[in-house]
Order: sequence, then structure tokens, then C-alpha cells
Amino acid sequence: MKYDYIIGGAGLAGLTLAWQMIENDLLKDKQLLIIDADKKDSNDRTWCFWSEPKIWITELPIKQSWDTAAVKGTDFDLSQKLEPYRYYKIEGIDYYKFIIEKLSKHSQITFIQDVITSEDEEFKLVETQSSTYQYSSYFFKSYFFPEDIRALGNPKKHFIWQHFYGWKIKTEKAQFNPNEITYMDLQVPEVKGGLSFAYILPESENEALVEYTLFSANLWEEEAYKSSLEHYIQNNLGLKDYSILEVEYNKIPMTNSIFTKKSKSIIPIGTLAGTVKPSTGYSFVRNYNHIQQIIRTLKSDGDDFSISGSKKFRFYDEVLMNVLHTGKSSGHEVFGNLYKKNKLPLLLKFLNEDTSLLEDLKIMNTVPKMAFIKAVIEEMF
Ligand SMILES: Cc1cc2nc3c(=O)[nH]c(=O)nc-3n(C[C@H](O)[C@H](O)[C@H](O)COP(=O)(O)OP(=O)(O)OC[C@H]3O[C@@H](n4cnc5c(N)ncnc54)[C@H](O)[C@@H]3O)c2cc1C
Repeated sequence: MKYDYIIGGAGLAGLTLAWQMIENDLLKDKQLLIIDADKKDSNDRTWCFWSEPKIWITELPIKQSWDTAAVKGTDFDLSQKLEPYRYYKIEGIDYYKFIIEKLSKHSQITFIQDVITSEDEEFKLVETQSSTYQYSSYFFKSYFFPEDIRALGNPKKHFIWQHFYGWKIKTEKAQFNPNEITYMDLQVPEVKGGLSFAYILPESENEALVEYTLFSANLWEEEAYKSSLEHYIQNNLGLKDYSILEVEYNKIPMTNSIFTKKSKSIIPIGTLAGTVKPSTGYSFVRNYNHIQQIIRTLKSDGDDFSISGSKKFRFYDEVLMNVLHTGKSSGHEVFGNLYKKNKLPLLLKFLNEDTSLLEDLKIMNTVPKMAFIKAVIEEMF
């Protein structure tokens, strides 16, 4: 059977695209095949993001949201209101279920659990471990192979990992403030050529996800994350008696490199398309915006599926990555200054790529100047 569209990878991007195709009536008289190696029936990740309470967000199965956040550095400890934003948390499994249930009502959508091994642009074929499938319009691809990552070794670009290890812990006594997240706690040992911090998402007075996060070129051994996290919980939070309910251990590529070559019928989506913001590792909202862009292109029979974004903010990301990656200034110095000297909602607006030039300049005035000037010159030339 020939499908009109194939989506390879039913994760955040693949499922959001299928859902939005249905919502926008783009599958009338069309056949869509979704292939994923996994059943998508486990809670393989938790997504967090900040946003104004937009309609599409309020529709989602949000687990929790907060309006206050703490930021901590070596010489500051600030609690701030996030208004006009809220910080949202959504469990992967809830998102998968929410969309799969909607899609299962449409007979023109077929799900297959299989591992994709290759794709052929010329003959519009997608090969899996057990079969070959053909598409007539587009193959939307969100998974990537180790070679795709290795191909990113462009010396002119920056590539670092956001790697993290977290425990959802439970305490006997009330230990957490469920109304406030710790967005970034820099009171942890510095890492060379990157950034290290902890963050806390409290679910109740007794339960919280506590995560140790690094931005750096080199990954650690699992034991090293564990002992750093344990040290943080025991010494920074002063908690000795707690039980571990869940573990989150993973990594996200942060890069200004492009993952794939341009192709007419193979359309990258999700991380592969560059939805992960290089300087933060966040992608939930950017993914939704990219999917909306794809929907508009499909509706207008266009052919531009690439992620749009302001050149200005792409350049800022490159400069920040240069500073961190080359060690021109330490992550603690850069982020410590940013969080100490600016209101958090303004920084979140900046990271959302919504600030004006005047607001950008105000923020830039708070970072180590020489390091950033050097990085600007290097990135420009
Ligand atoms: C643990 C974790 C936590 C994160 N937390 C946040 C967060 O809090 N906020 C935020 O904004 N971003 C977060 N991110 C970053 C980003 O939002 C996620 O990685 C997001 O899931 C990316 O969406 P995607 O569709 O590109 O990839 P995925 O959601 O990973 O989807 C890819 C899909 O492809 C499938 N697949 C892989 N290989 C094959 C194959 N060969 N054949 C068939 N299927 C295949 C996988 O099973 C998967 O379902 C997090 C990432 C991780 C890993």
C-alpha cells in the first residue's frame, strides 16, 4: 500500500504533527503511516516549558504548573514571580496517550511498531527491519542515527550536550514548597567549558524531581552524576532521609549545526529540524511552532518546511555557545550575572526570542563584556 505521508518517529514532533494534521483537516482522502520503534507506552521523559497560558497549552494534559521560581547563585538567592508566564510540566506518557487516543479515531491513520533502517528519497521508500513502505508526498523524519550526530563535527559550529541525571524523591517530613520551582541553582561545582546547575520541580511538600544538569562537550560516567546529585540533595538541600521513586537520565544535543541535508520529500521535524534551542535545550514550544509552520505550508501547497527563526536570536545563541564552549567565561559567571541582574520574566522573554533590541541591550549589559565581545568578533568573522 502506498501512503500519502509517512511520519518516522512518534515522539513529540511526530505525534504533534499527526494531531495537527487531523485538527486542520489535512488527512481527508489521504493515508498517513506512523512508524515508531517504541510502543510509546512508558513515561520516557518529562517536558517543562514556560509560556503565557495560550489556548493550545490549556488543552494539553498538563500535570502541574507554577507561577513562581527561585534562582540561586553563589551570592544570591531570589524568588520571583514569572508573570506573564507560567512554568508548565507535562509527562511524556500523558502527551502520548492524549494524542494517540485522538488519532486512533481516524481510520486513515495506521500505526506500525518497527525500527526504520533507511530511507530512499529517489523512490520515496522507507525501509524498516521487517518491511518497506512507500509514500507519495512527504516522509517526515524525527529520529536520527548515530551517524547523523557524528556528521555534526563541523569545526565552525558549536556542539555541546545538555546531560542530566535526576531523581524524583519522597521525604517523610514536608521539605518542599509546592508553589515554587527552583529554576536554576548555581550553588554546585563549576564545570570547565560549560555550565552546571541543579533544578527542582516540587510536586508536593514531600515529593520533588531534583535534577543535576550540565552543558558540556564531554559526557560523564553514570556514577559521577549520581554522586553529584546525592551530594546536592544531602548538602545543599540538607536531606538525609528520602526514597527514590523515579530516575531521569538522558542527554539532548545543543548545536547551531544543521543535522540533515536539504531534501525535497524527506522533511526533518523535531530535534532533527533544529527545534531544540541551542543555548537552552528547550524545544516543546518551538516544536509546536514549527509544526504550525509545516501545517501552513501543507495547506498552501508550498515547499518550505525549514524552521523559521530570527537571525538575530540565532546569532545570540551562537555567541553564547562560543563563550561557554571555548571557556571565554564560566557558565556560572555568565548565568549568575544574568539571573542576578535581570528580572526572570525578561530573561524568559529573551529566551523565547520575543524581546526588542532595547531589551536585548539591557540584558547584554549584564554579561561579562570582554568575553562576549571576543565571541561576537569570532562568530562574525
Ligand atoms: C529526557 C528528556 C527530557 C527533556 N525535557 C525537556 C523539557 O523539559 N523541555 C523541553 O522543551 N525539551 C525537553 N527535552 C528536549 C526535547 O523536547 C525532547 O527531546 C523531544 O522529545 C524531542 O522531540 P522529537 O520528536 O525530536 O524526538 P523524540 O520525542 O525523541 O521522538 C523520536 C521518536 O523516534 C523514535 N525512533 C528512534 N529511532 C527510531 C527508528 N530507527 N525507527 C523508528 N522510530 C525511531 C523514538 O522511539 C521516538 O519515539 C527533553 C529531552 C529528553 C531526552
